[in-house]
Amino acid sequence: MKKRNILIVVMDGLGDRAVAQLGGMTPLQAASTPNLDWFARNGATGIVDVISPGVRPGSDTSHLAILGYDPYEVYTGRGPFEAAGVGLVGKKGDVAFRCNFATVDANMVVTDRRAGRIKEPDTGELVSVLRDIRIQGVEVIVKEATEHRAVLLLRGDGLSAAVSDVDPHDETKIHECRPLRPEATKTAEIVNDFVRRSYDSLNRHPVNRRREQSGLPPANILLPRGAGIFPDIVPFNERNGMRGAVVAGVSLIKGIARVCGLEVVEVKGATGGLDTDVNAKADAVLKLLRERDFVLLNVKATDIASHDGDASKKVKVIERLDGMMGRIREGMGGDVVVAIMADHCTPIELKDHSGDPVPLVVCCEGMVKDGGVAFDEASCAKGGLGRIRGKDVLPILIDKAGRSEKFGA
Ligand code: ZN
Ligand code: ZN
Repeated sequence: MKKRNILIVVMDGLGDRAVAQLGGMTPLQAASTPNLDWFARNGATGIVDVISPGVRPGSDTSHLAILGYDPYEVYTGRGPFEAAGVGLVGKKGDVAFRCNFATVDANMVVTDRRAGRIKEPDTGELVSVLRDIRIQGVEVIVKEATEHRAVLLLRGDGLSAAVSDVDPHDETKIHECRPLRPEATKTAEIVNDFVRRSYDSLNRHPVNRRREQSGLPPANILLPRGAGIFPDIVPFNERNGMRGAVVAGVSLIKGIARVCGLEVVEVKGATGGLDTDVNAKADAVLKLLRERDFVLLNVKATDIASHDGDASKKVKVIERLDGMMGRIREGMGGDVVVAIMADHCTPIELKDHSGDPVPLVVCCEGMVKDGGVAFDEASCAKGGLGRIRGKDVLPILIDKAGRSEKFGA
């Protein structure tokens, strides 16, 4: 059999629960989705516990599972994936932190945790004075991220992620970074030294003078939190013998992809927001499918509408994504194995992720149609793929693509 290429489309936070406002239907049931239903009629459906039943996944752990990894083995905290999301891909043993630019007074009491929601280009200018720092022989790398956020990466020997947060998470005195295990003493000292240096350099920085003159709070300190060590991860391509690429608008998903050694393809107009250009994403995917063995497409807009708790907005977003799937269906040709799923449910009523299973459809030529007529939570629960875990999805697709190895004689 000729090897086929694989496409996984992840509609972020797509799954939902019965919404009273929609007459007890889920947004996916309420939306008009002729293309998604076409995939359901021509493929096999099922539901997926992306991590395991009842576990509420983050988008990071869920995408690791969808990429075939066991998140309990490879997930080492959000810091490293956040860092990779802004292009700081560490090596095994590097420790990464998420940071906020914040405002503190002379007594180190936080007066604004987001420094007046400072953003680019101010944050980029501020971090430039924190370049080329070494503390106790350890390389210290800082990079600005979205809005008031930044990432801090420590590279050197004898580091540990078992340290407490400096960010007090409210407007009180900043915390001292404490080692949570004896071997983390050096790392905690480095973090405390870095935080002091960030205050010394940022407090008198011209950008902050300018901000104060315009009545804005100065971003005069960086507050690290969420330490994580870069995982020892077998690159996706090596593990699966495929050349893969990921298309995503949001940096956390790009970070996951980069840590897994996958290429991240930037698409103009793919914003990661509600206004994302779904046609541009579809066209990018179609082009990639001709050049790569594996493509994962993440669309975040469904999750955003869900966190807003806006049922009718979620229905509209789903209908736009249905149009995107129509474009992909027309352009992809017969030699592709397609899976469409969510990375977790984000029920409108919760405005947050839940542990409910998500709908899945797998479609390719030669598929045994399982009688599914619609792509939604209830119809997929009756499908032939049954109820599986997130990390089981990729092996199924690899087998359908004629790329699996036989177990036994
Ligand atoms: Zn998600
Ligand atoms: Zn979410």
